[in-house]
Amino acid sequence: MLPKVTIIGRPNVGKSSFFNMFVGHKIAIVADEAGTTRDISEYEFTDKDREITYILADSGGLDFSSKDDEIARDIIERTRNAIAESDLLIWIVEYNRLTEEDDQIIKILRGKDIPPVMVVANKADNDEMRLESYNLPIVSIFPDFFPISVSHHF
Ligand code: GDP
Repeated sequence: MLPKVTIIGRPNVGKSSFFNMFVGHKIAIVADEAGTTRDISEYEFTDKDREITYILADSGGLDFSSKDDEIARDIIERTRNAIAESDLLIWIVEYNRLTEEDDQIIKILRGKDIPPVMVVANKADNDEMRLESYNLPIVSIFPDFFPISVSHHF
C-alpha cells in the first residue's frame, strides 16, 4: 500500500488551494469521493527527484451552512480520521493567527500515536509575513514548520 499524506486544517486556511497546486501540476486522480459526507479527494503523487510515490489526500471542504459547533465537531472528526489513516499530516494554518478551531486541532495532535506533522503556515505572501509567521506559538511544538504562499507560488 502506498504511504498516505493528508492535508488537515480548519476552513479557509488554503487547504484546497494547496491541494490544487499539486493536482494542477503533477497528479493523477485515483479517487474522488466528493459529495459523500467525508468529501475526501485523493491523488497519487510521484516525486520523480526522490523516487517516491504516495497518496495525497485533502481532508475536504466543510458545509458553511452548518452551525459553528457542527463545524468544530466536523474538524475534530476529520482530523481524527486523518490521524488513523495517514503516515504524515500536513497541517495548514494561517501565517499570523490561530483560532479556537486551531486550538482544538493542537489538542488532538498532542495526543498519542500521532503520525509526523508538518505545519504549513499559508498566506505568508511576502518576506515580512514569512518572518512574522515564526511568532506563532506552535513553532516550538512542531519544528517542521514552513511558511508559504500558495497564491504567490512560494
Ligand atoms: P480551505 O477552506 O482551507 O480549503 O481554503 P481555500 O483553499 O478555499 O482558500 C481560502 C481562501 O484563502 C481563498 O479565498 C483563497 O483564495 C485564499 N488563499 C489561499 N492561499 C492563499 C495565499 O497564499 N495567500 C492569500 N493571501 N490568500 C490565499
